[in-house]
Amino acid sequence: MFRITEHQYNIIMKQAQSCYPQETGGILGGRENTILGVLPIANKVSQERTETFGLTSEDIERAYSFLVKNKLEYLGVYHTHPKGIPIPSAQDLAHHQKYLFIIGLEDRRNPALYAWRVEGGRVYSEDIKIISDIGITIVDIRTGKPKLAENIGGQELNRLTRMVNAFIEGHEPEYHKYNPTNWDASSFSTFA
Ligand SMILES: [Zn+2]
Repeated sequence: MFRITEHQYNIIMKQAQSCYPQETGGILGGRENTILGVLPIANKVSQERTETFGLTSEDIERAYSFLVKNKLEYLGVYHTHPKGIPIPSAQDLAHHQKYLFIIGLEDRRNPALYAWRVEGGRVYSEDIKIISDIGITIVDIRTGKPKLAENIGGQELNRLTRMVNAFIEGHEPEYHKYNPTNWDASSFSTFA
């Protein structure tokens, strides 16, 4: 299970919405599965930004410095699926990351943040909970408390659950295509 602070969660969601309908993402750092640092990264692919999120080796170096400076462990890369559901694509899985963090914006007003653990060629869903910045209130993303799910109807949540389950069973989801926008990574704070 992962925990994410409200502050970090809001950085990611603001970025996801600002870049829509393009894909965007970044690096997550933390301690003991608590996400404490977000490093947003501008999408470096020159085409098909609505379908692909790309990093450069410079981004990786910057991420390394960010983690060292803030004394954080590397947790993984996050990226958006602007009009898709938050499950890993074949391309996502090809990166051989232990964890994949994906924000699905199919319902743009109710983004869904999912964490996936990849192990032995299989994909498992990891719970994520939002914790308040002072570390007291715990909000369960799945059961729909403030923030994420306050507007998600039970039906929507059930549909998402079905799609996720279908994916876990090996069915490929369908994605749509959209038009580009601009976004500048330097406009976001990156501190832990
Ligand atoms: Zn993806």
